[in-house]
Amino acid sequence: MKERLLTYLVCPFCAGKLSLTVENAQNEEIIEGELRCVECNRRFVITRGIPRFADLDSVESDKKATAEGFGWQWKHFTQEDARYGEQFLGWIDPVTPDFFRGKVVLEGGCGKGRHTQLAATWGAHDVVGIDLSEAVETAFSATRDLPNVHIVQADIFQLPFARVFDYAFSVGVLHHLPDPKRGFESLASKVKPGGHLSAWVYGAENNEWITSFVNPVREKLTSKIDQRALLQLSKIPASCLYLATKLLYGPLNRSKQGSAIANHLFYNDYLKSIAPFGWREQHTIVFDHLVAPTAFYLARDEFEVWWKDIQAQAVVITWHNKNSWRGFGQIPPE
Ligand SMILES: [Zn+2]
Repeated sequence: MKERLLTYLVCPFCAGKLSLTVENAQNEEIIEGELRCVECNRRFVITRGIPRFADLDSVESDKKATAEGFGWQWKHFTQEDARYGEQFLGWIDPVTPDFFRGKVVLEGGCGKGRHTQLAATWGAHDVVGIDLSEAVETAFSATRDLPNVHIVQADIFQLPFARVFDYAFSVGVLHHLPDPKRGFESLASKVKPGGHLSAWVYGAENNEWITSFVNPVREKLTSKIDQRALLQLSKIPASCLYLATKLLYGPLNRSKQGSAIANHLFYNDYLKSIAPFGWREQHTIVFDHLVAPTAFYLARDEFEVWWKDIQAQAVVITWHNKNSWRGFGQIPPE
């Protein structure tokens, strides 16, 4: 933890100020220490460089299973992919890299920190990435040399921050929470008046085949089996996906005539978008869909209500790859 993070932090229980005790530091990084709330006296440890406001033993079993599944995955799949930047921009459109310049940014559910890292390299003043899972360890080691990145282990429903952010975003996380809308509202509550918010969630529309066929398998079987076994088992559907994108969707979509045919194929927009990815990335996508105990698929009108209820302004909701919703809006200025 870098000391400048302290200016954004408050007690997640009472919003009181936190006092810092450093036990061990390496250069700018506080490796071991303690944060104590001056109001309610609760203590939060800093271990292995990360302030800990939540741990998996203190959250409900459902959230815990989700975090464990993804945490294990993010530690296992640490491959970097040059397309991450482009993919990230696809999820937060109409936001562009320039938008980050000089802003104080919060990522709700940072996983292994790849978006946090991108936001930092695009010139954010500070980026704070939070996650509940042990993926924070990977995120921390990937970002500790970036002076404007801060990784915090925290629960999105109980964020340890004052209302200090110019921009907050969450991609691919809210739909895995037991109450996605409440997670969204919690994130929005940390954005300054006049600041901005982005969220990307699975769409209900066009995903009926997932909700009808994949979800029952995920809920009853794959989210419950051992992750190492699931990793092997998920190679079967991943191989089908890989062959389909490499032999059919990818080649067809590269020509004008082919695209005309591909447009009639099942799930073309999405499969076209992942066709350039390599085996490991595609395997990750399949594993991701099978590991989570909770996954909500949201209809556009439900997603619209989220933005209305936080009184967001100039909201832009767009359909991404014909299988998901992305939203961007402004928190009302005071
Ligand atoms: Zn407190």
